[in-house]
This record gives sequence, structure tokens and C-alpha cells, in this order.
Amino acid sequence: EPRRIPLQQHGILADQISPCARRVVSTLQQAGYRAFIVGGAVRDLLLGRAPKDFDVATNATPEEVRRLFRRSRIIGRRFRLVHVMCGPETVEVSTFRGGPADDSAAGDSCTDEHGRILQDNVFGTQEEDATRRDFTANALFYDPTSQEIWDYHNGYADLKKGVLRIIGEPEKRYREDPVRMLRAVRLAAKLDLKLDPKTEAPIPRLAPLIQNVPAARVFDEMLKLLMSGHSRQCVLQLRARGLHHGLLPLLDVILEQPLGERFVMLALESTDRRIAADKPVTPSFLFAALLWHEVLATWKTFQEQGEKPIPALFRAMDEVLAVQEERLAIPRRYESMMKEIWALQPRFLQRSGQRPFRLLEHPRFRAAYDFLLLRCESGELPREVGEWWDAFQRAEPHERQALLIPGE
Ligand code: ATP
Ligand code: MG
Repeated sequence: EPRRIPLQQHGILADQISPCARRVVSTLQQAGYRAFIVGGAVRDLLLGRAPKDFDVATNATPEEVRRLFRRSRIIGRRFRLVHVMCGPETVEVSTFRGGPADDSAAGDSCTDEHGRILQDNVFGTQEEDATRRDFTANALFYDPTSQEIWDYHNGYADLKKGVLRIIGEPEKRYREDPVRMLRAVRLAAKLDLKLDPKTEAPIPRLAPLIQNVPAARVFDEMLKLLMSGHSRQCVLQLRARGLHHGLLPLLDVILEQPLGERFVMLALESTDRRIAADKPVTPSFLFAALLWHEVLATWKTFQEQGEKPIPALFRAMDEVLAVQEERLAIPRRYESMMKEIWALQPRFLQRSGQRPFRLLEHPRFRAAYDFLLLRCESGELPREVGEWWDAFQRAEPHERQALLIPGE
């Protein structure tokens, strides 16, 4: 009973699918299974965007998939998927999955007291697989063999109207998985879609449920959001909907300080520009920026208590990270670079003797300097400081001595 949309209507040709994903689908189909390209890739192609990656959904079990592809492995403990490798590409193959037992008393044991799903590891039919997905636009199946799209929830029409609509009863779906609220905001901003009014309405009220989601998952989603190329828009939307509390517990505090808000917005804009220009972006830089004004405030407090500037800065960095860690679980691999960027900041204000030369040689000079420029641009530091470092870097080595500011 899904609507089957033919090629003439949707216009997606099989050769828009990566060769690896096409090979996976055709191998599965030739072995007698059903297989489709599913989710974000179909959605992105319909919007005329290049998909990031291709996911395949099938009625074959993970073991059956594994047996068909020499270069493949089963991953995931809670819900097992198969990664199939061809050359540098990996295609994720998942078995059709059912949702939580519907409204039955038995279903209760799989959710917490707020309705959050704790377990969703049951295989299901293709239709059930469509229904457990989040948005109608994310529940389309494309068969590269027939070049048809299978549409169980009217996602095709929604996409063409530019609407992001949650599947099923919005409040229940957000309770099952509060991360869907963040996904709604992120996908709408990134894909330039409008949230359907019923999808949008319960979000501010249910926003506090994010607090019940394991921190590591919130962190993953936060990272996707910040790296989406639309981070500024996403953060503004999160704030407008009351969703920012759970993400960065201090983000609201930071955004309330005028300088803090300006600094954060500049950092997000500069990240979005870098992503648009295909330049590398490091999450550490962004998180360092998001938390900078908290570090500054804490640093100031410690100095007022009589601590020396540099030890006070290091203790402030640790304290800010410790508070964020509880909720956001910033992985350690990002923390060390965040600390380096912060720790180098006072050194930009020492422009005499050998110190500027040593700073220039520091492996994190570039990131720390970009960070300094944001501080100048936001009004925290005089522009002159950033301009001086720009001149100092660009000067010929023998000219640098003359630029030093003795006594600083
Ligand atoms: P992106 O462009 O960010 O990758 P995506 O829609 O592909 O967007 P993924 O996280 O890769 O996002 O998820 C793949 C698919 O899995 C989605 O299209 C959706 O169908 C389904 N999905 C992902 N997260 C959820 C969720 N929290 N609840 C229900 N379905 C989800
Ligand atoms: Mg995806």
C-alpha cells in the first residue's frame, strides 16, 4: 500500500547513487532479498543536494548480509548493522526494524517514565521500518533497479512543499526519543524546510526531556548541528525553542552577556563560512569558542580571590570543562586542543623579547590566532592586537624585531 512514485515523476536516476550502494542493493536483490536506498540520501537527492552517504535497508538479517559481501562486518551492539566496504566507500546496511510495541502494556517495559525508548532492536516489515523513522522526508525508499520511490507517509509531497513533518503523533515521538527535537531544528535549518505546525508546536514544552538523553548522544547531535554549515541558524532556533539548555548548560548564560553572545555568533558564522568554502573545521575550536566567556568569567573570579593570572586561567579551564562534562560529555580528544587554544591567549599580549617568536612556532599558533581574531572582532580586545599579530606574521623574519613592543 505504499505509494510508488515512478522515475518520470521524481526524476532520480540510478546513476545518482554511488556505485558501491548500487552494487550492495543489486547483490541483495539478486540473492532474493528486498533492498532499497533509504533515509537522508533519498531526501537529499530529491532536494537536488549531494548526499553525504548512502544507507541501504533490507529484509535480509545482518548475518545474511554479512555472508553476501566479503568485505563487510557487523557493527553495533544494541542494533546490529552491517558495514559493506568497496574501495574507500562504506555503505551501511540495516535490516528493516519495527518500532516499539504500540501502546500495549508490554511496550511500557521498553520505555522510561517519560516515554523514552530504551530498546528498539526488533526486526520488522518494510512498512514498520518506514513508520519508526523520524520525519516523512526521511522515510522514503528508492529502488535503483526499478528507479521507483516507495512512500508510506507522504514524504514526497511534504518535501516538494518544503515541509518537515514528524511521522505519527508528535508528542509521543518526541517522548520516545527527545533527540528528534534537535534533529527537527537541524534538518529544517540545513535543508531550508519549514517545520509543520503540529511538528513544531510541542517542542518548547517538551524541550526539558533532552536532559534524560545520555550525554554522549546529545554530544553527537550537537556536533552534527555545529558542523552542519548552518550552525548559527541552528543555535538561534534552538534558543527560540528553549532547546539550548540541555545542550550546553551554560550557553544561555553566555548568550545573555552581550559580549559573549557576539563572540559565539561570530564563531558560528566563521565556522559556517569555512564549511561553505570546504575548509577544515575542528570541533575543538568551536567548543573552545562556545565556552570562552565562561572561562573568562571564572578566570576573573579566581583572580579576584587573589590567585595569580596564569594558574587562575588553568584552574578556570578545568572547572569549566568539568561542569560541561557532566552534561555534554565533550570527549577528551577535543579537550586537549581546547585547552591549548585557551592557554595561548594571554601570550598574545606579550609582544617583547623572544616570546612572540616562540608563540609563532607553536603548533597551535594558527588556531589560537584565529581565536584571537574573534576576540578582537567581538570587541573583547582592541583590534590593534589582532592587526599587530597579522603584521608580525607577515613581516620578513629580519623585520620582526622592529615590531616588538618593549615592556609588554
Ligand atoms: P544527515 O544528512 O544528517 O545524515 P540523515 O537523515 O541521513 O541526515 P542519519 O542520522 O544519518 O540522518 O539517519 C539516517 C536515517 O535514520 C534518517 O533519515 C531517519 O530515517 C532515521 N533516523 C535517524 N535518527 C532517527 C531518530 N532519532 N528517530 C527515528 N529515525 C531516525
Ligand atoms: Mg545520513
